Amino acid sequence: MLCEPVNHRDTYLDWNATAPLRPEARAAISAALALSGNPSSVHRSGRAARQLVEQGRAAVAALAGASPDGVVFTSGGTEANHLALLGSGRPRVLVSAIEHSSIVDAVPRAEHIPVGGDGLVDPAALAALLDADASSRPALVSVMLANNETGAIQPIHALAEIAHANGALFHCDAVQAAGKIPLLLGEIGADFLTLSGHKIGGPAGIGALVVAPGAEITPLLRGGGQERNRRAGTENLAGITGFAAAATAGDPAEYDRVRSLRDRLEAALPPDAVVIAAGVPRLPNTSSIAMPGVPAETQIIALDLDGVMVSAGAACSSGKVGPSHVLAAMGVAPEIADATIRVSLGWSTSDDDIAHFLDAWTALYRRTRARRAA
Ligand code: PLP
Repeated sequence: MLCEPVNHRDTYLDWNATAPLRPEARAAISAALALSGNPSSVHRSGRAARQLVEQGRAAVAALAGASPDGVVFTSGGTEANHLALLGSGRPRVLVSAIEHSSIVDAVPRAEHIPVGGDGLVDPAALAALLDADASSRPALVSVMLANNETGAIQPIHALAEIAHANGALFHCDAVQAAGKIPLLLGEIGADFLTLSGHKIGGPAGIGALVVAPGAEITPLLRGGGQERNRRAGTENLAGITGFAAAATAGDPAEYDRVRSLRDRLEAALPPDAVVIAAGVPRLPNTSSIAMPGVPAETQIIALDLDGVMVSAGAACSSGKVGPSHVLAAMGVAPEIADATIRVSLGWSTSDDDIAHFLDAWTALYRRTRARRAA
């Protein structure tokens, strides 16, 4: 929070940063916290805890259309991404230029697959990169299912096919797509897939790497046999049960309504507002909007003062807004990128929330345009 809101109510439109905890997750977490067993213990408390972990594994597997055996619980999406990239054992790593920083920074030497101005990774560009390596080192390719800033849904199946045709493994970060659009590991054709609890209404600090049948991963954390020797450490029982409850409670059909709210919001914007990646399939809840001439930080502060919470289109960490590598990779002009905010909706977003955003945003728009005209 930059400042106490002065408005009569708060409107939260930053769901891609974190979704509010679902009531079902809250209840499951409370129940799990009341248990004292370690899932590795053989006594009855341990067995009760183990049962919850395995129920949670089945629920999270169902979210990804995968087998429970493939689910490796981690401390979140960041760790799952690191596990895939560093644990695949592949000496060559290719990641798209619009990946989350937990991918980009996990392997600094990774080659970057370019994206077009539309926000999509071009399968032909991946094929050319894979083809260009004369040494034929075994590769891992990592492309996200949907981008966290623009919402652009990538041609993931085609990309996975190209990776496999070239002998590469394929990892997909599905953190933002999970729960919002249908998700089936088999249809994507990924060897590894990342999920995160707090983006779907579970708690932060829990995630999973889903490993497809036949794929293998070398653990980053060793010392215990947990997670079938793929991730050591006593299981986060409360996190797993909260994650599982959120996975079960969510229904992608909720997002039909969310999509219509998002579309209504975009339709009400003034003509010189720019909607990024507007021409491609996008997550139903995400809108990346530029108000040319008004820095994102100014917009965020003004909106916050009016009780509306959104993010910069750019990476926003430790309260600072930095340039967006996603918008830069798309070739968005710096003056547009600097003026881009991300508005992200969720299952409890209401008509009133959209009206509140539009009131606050258009008031700022009019003020700045009037100041310019004076
Ligand atoms: N991948 C994507 C696309 C994300 O948006 C995020 C979080 O913003 C992460 C990974 C990291 O997940 P976590 O916060 O669970 O570490």
